[in-house]
Amino acid sequence: MSLSKGLDAIADIGLDPGTGGYRRFAWSDADMQLREWFVGEAEKRGMDIEEDGNGNQLARTAEGPDALLLGSHLDSVPDGGAFDGPLGVVSSFAALDRLRAAGFEPSRPVVVGNFADEEGARFGIACAGSQLATGVLAPEKALALKDRDGLTMAEALKARGRDPRAVGRADWLDDIGTFVELHVEQGRHLVHTGDAVGVASAIWPHGRWRLEFCGVADHAGATRMADRHDPMGAYAATVLAARRLATDAEARATFGRLEVAPGGTNAIPSRVRAWLDARAATEDDLERLVDDIVAEARGAADADETDVETIAESVSPAVTFDVPLRDRLATLLDAPVLATGAGHDAGVLSQQVPTAMLFVRNPTGVSHSPAEHAGDADCEAGVDALAQVVKTLAS
Ligand SMILES: [Zn+2]
Repeated sequence: MSLSKGLDAIADIGLDPGTGGYRRFAWSDADMQLREWFVGEAEKRGMDIEEDGNGNQLARTAEGPDALLLGSHLDSVPDGGAFDGPLGVVSSFAALDRLRAAGFEPSRPVVVGNFADEEGARFGIACAGSQLATGVLAPEKALALKDRDGLTMAEALKARGRDPRAVGRADWLDDIGTFVELHVEQGRHLVHTGDAVGVASAIWPHGRWRLEFCGVADHAGATRMADRHDPMGAYAATVLAARRLATDAEARATFGRLEVAPGGTNAIPSRVRAWLDARAATEDDLERLVDDIVAEARGAADADETDVETIAESVSPAVTFDVPLRDRLATLLDAPVLATGAGHDAGVLSQQVPTAMLFVRNPTGVSHSPAEHAGDADCEAGVDALAQVVKTLAS
């Protein structure tokens, strides 16, 4: 299978014709179609297929210990691009095809994985599938998470014929000796170095915080400006402060999701609920950044006689990928080594298994948007790189 043919086969699944972006949320119809596609690809190649209790799909060339795991995820953010996730899964199958065509027999089992719910678009926690499989995320916490319609993860699993009691630490992990995840680059580092493929050094620590700005709802016409307790002002001040603080710290802070209650054009809000995504190069930098943003929010709320509460929804520590493996792959591929601000299943698994990541150049640098892109030649270079990695690590 060529890489572009593989991506073409799933190009219509979960595509929103209005936005041109993908809506492939965990356990949605689109996700179920992608899961079927994955099973079909595994079967075509005579691979054994397993779905663990968390919905992670694994296609194996053989049973046994010390397996080499490849793969990524097939789900997307709201209006995501075609490459974030699927490129890694499709490239893994394509790399195996290339090696088989050349008569190469791997000396250890090779597994292609599709990790469930990587983006956390539906239940709010990123990398849920890998975090559950590794035991990092407690099943009872995950199962109680609700989507925007109020449906819990447990209910969503049941609706798709899955057993919520099967969620949790997965046995297959014990048989994995190495994990290599290929992913489209989220940024333009490789554009600047002029390389098609790079090797990851680290993932920045990152997290999601919910800020609840509370005030008093009232009439937009009858309430004098001086008499208001409008939480929108403190929220707005916090967005601007976050932008300034993150810029000064060479970190990242984003408010990308907002709920306003009661949500009337002619009503002063009673509550503004906002989600902060923050990332920084070190855990100390991240802590300082979030503390500073929260302090600005509190100051702005106090000035307006409103209130603000901050809830940490998920915080992921810094990840440094296995250094000998990273150096080995960088030498093998003659590829640059780069850090990333984006989280990945590879970051989760790296806590328990020697793990590496390959990035494929993204000319726009944009991701989590339909503008995300990777050229055909670079995608093929990614498959080549992955094939070389398998050949080196499994012979
Ligand atoms: Zn991804």
